[in-house]
Amino acid sequence: MLMRIGGEEVESAKGAWLDVINPANGEVLDRVPAGGREEVDAAVGAAEKALGGWSATGPRERGKILFHAAQAIRAGRQDLARILTWEQGKPLAEAVDEVRGCANVLEFYASIAGCLSGDFIRLGPAGDGVVVREPIGVCGAIIPWNMPAILMAWKAGPALLAGNTLILKPSSTTPLTDLAIAGIMERSGLPEGVLNVVTGTGESAGTAIVTHPGIHRVSFTGNTATGLAVREAAAPSLKEVSLELGGSDPMIVWRDADLPKAVQGAVRGRFYNAGQVCNAVKRIYVHEEIAAAFLEQHLARVRALRVGDGLSPGTDMGPLQNRAQLERIEHQVDGLREGGEGRILTGGSRLRGPGHDRGFFYAPTLVSEVRPDAAILREETFGPVLPVMAVPDLQGAIREANRSPYGLGASVWTRDLGIARAAFEGVRAGVFWVNRHLTVPPELPFGGVKESGTGRDIGVQAISQWTRTRSLFLGW
Ligand code: NAD
Repeated sequence: MLMRIGGEEVESAKGAWLDVINPANGEVLDRVPAGGREEVDAAVGAAEKALGGWSATGPRERGKILFHAAQAIRAGRQDLARILTWEQGKPLAEAVDEVRGCANVLEFYASIAGCLSGDFIRLGPAGDGVVVREPIGVCGAIIPWNMPAILMAWKAGPALLAGNTLILKPSSTTPLTDLAIAGIMERSGLPEGVLNVVTGTGESAGTAIVTHPGIHRVSFTGNTATGLAVREAAAPSLKEVSLELGGSDPMIVWRDADLPKAVQGAVRGRFYNAGQVCNAVKRIYVHEEIAAAFLEQHLARVRALRVGDGLSPGTDMGPLQNRAQLERIEHQVDGLREGGEGRILTGGSRLRGPGHDRGFFYAPTLVSEVRPDAAILREETFGPVLPVMAVPDLQGAIREANRSPYGLGASVWTRDLGIARAAFEGVRAGVFWVNRHLTVPPELPFGGVKESGTGRDIGVQAISQWTRTRSLFLGW
């Protein structure tokens, strides 16, 4: 597939290509141009050309185009989901779910188009004030490989509704779904140059976006180390940067929890998308009175997960998305085993044998008796590995939950409102669930605290990040 710049399909100026690998079998399934500085320059040119017309279009008109695009994406979800599973690895049902989620987000922004507003402030006898919200201009968005369809919508939905034009860089390992979605959006009425997709590596295309003087805001999603480098590289050009980074979400299971529901929530919360979700359940703190029953039921469910090619019917969990990620997870679990930092109850190694040999498969893994200082609790585990710890009381659970450098999401599972409230107040996280985890509706702003980042995606609130205010004083 080719890049999309200014409504055209484009090769890289240097004629260089990047292979896109199917993680279920390690085979090359397509290739995309390896873009860099020249392609980002061209995309900025196209985005600048489109900016005047697009930002002058009324928000309701922009919303209508997003709505048509959402409808077309939903109508094409089976084909898009197939592309997504091919390049990303997730089971087809999850891919359909993600594409539907992408359409939902665009529809959400279409639905609030009539509500974009500023403020009118009575200042007294001297005059009145008007606060006008304006688009920032040409913006950039850089996203990772775990949820390419939904994260594209999280950036493009509010950015485009607000009247900006955008240059999006997908991960070099999952560019195909985003290119296909961009094509659908253009065919749904998005003027050429409003959304440009530049493919390439982080070092090349990513750096070119972050440092480009013609790009005035960059919304970045990825891991914390990259986010810090992005912020530093963007500083000299005084770009606004928002960072949506890694997570290590704790799930607290209180002694009165609905156990089957909590077990179900933990299995889905951790093993959905092979654990490669920023706000996946990454640590469980379960009350010691129910810890044995919880672990027993949980273990049975984890052992029953069928791991395979996402396109094969009946697959519950696909491969990890790329070889480097598989090796990272192997390294983390091997370190835990060798350091005696925990007890592996199931899994703990990559999967081999027919159907698994050539792909990047790792066994669903459950770990208990984990030492509080274990590396696996400090670091993000972006894969199907779940440590479960027994705790004697809520204060202990909150203390352990907060020990992580991350603060993206967290949940408590209880029927007791007092416990729910105390956990919400005590755990530092940008998103908090009661009797739920993972679900992120477009209405709720999403983002973390601590090393999980500074920005907020989605919600009505995201519009304020994609706009700037200008103040007008009216002296009567
Ligand atoms: P990553 O940081 O390696 O890559 C993310 C994107 O940044 C890719 O497109 C990559 O090409 C690009 N990139 C890499 N180096 C760059 C550089 N120097 N300059 C500019 N761009 C560069 O992240 P990853 O490993 O692909 O993704 C997984 C991470 O993303 C996890 O930590 C996960 O928790 C996080 N994530 C966070 C959220 C959120 O909303 N907070 C959502 C999804 C994923």
